[in-house]
Order: sequence, then structure tokens, then C-alpha cells
Amino acid sequence: MKSCLLCLRADRPMTREHVFAHWLVRRVHGGRLIASNASRGGTLSTTAPVRIAGVTAAVCAECNAGWMSTLEDSFRRAVFARPQVGTLQAADRITLSRWFTKTAVLLAHARGGALVDAAQGPQLGCRHAR
Ligand SMILES: [Zn+2]
Repeated sequence: MKSCLLCLRADRPMTREHVFAHWLVRRVHGGRLIASNASRGGTLSTTAPVRIAGVTAAVCAECNAGWMSTLEDSFRRAVFARPQVGTLQAADRITLSRWFTKTAVLLAHARGGALVDAAQGPQLGCRHAR
């Protein structure tokens, strides 16, 4: 059985998480943006280019619907819910840091790579930052 790359548990149902959520793709008018047309190692792929809306990574249902969903909501509020004037508040800096890290880890995984050591995955969902 496949384990979740974020919490490392293998006893949970797995889901396909969209690395770039549909709301975000729509918000930035990114429907035509291409994630990459190069395979791992930088050689050109013969497969069709993948749009960012179609990039997914396998994570467990509990991570997906739990801390990742909460992080996505926090990210949306931090970036889009209010006018961005002045210094970022500390809480928003943490949210943005976690969101970009989570996204980079999933993106690397979706391309067959690994951005962090597997043992570091659970730290992304650290309950102290929820
Ligand atoms: Zn998980």
C-alpha cells in the first residue's frame, strides 16, 4: 500500500490533490499555464504539456481534507481577502511560507522528484502552526 508523502502513514485512503487548486488557477487566470513540458532530468518529453490545473499529487484523505485544506483557506485569505498594504503580519508570513513549501514539495513529487527528505514530510503539517 502506498504511503502519504506528507504524513508517511500507509493506512489511510489516498486522494489526488490538485497542486494548484481550481480556485487559484481561476483567480490568476492560469487556465492555459503550462507546468512543464520537460521530464525529469531536463530532457524534453514527448508527452503533451501539462497545464498547472492538471498537476496532482497523491496524499492521504486526512491530510488533504485536514491541515492542507485549512492551509489553503488561510493562504487564500492572506493573499486575496484584503488589500495588501504595508508589512506582512507574522501569521501571514507563516501561512505563505508553509503554503509555498507545501506546493513546492508536491510539485517536485508530481514530477517524480523529492524536494525534502521523506522524514521531513510530516513537519509540513505541524500542528503548532495550524
Ligand atoms: Zn497524509
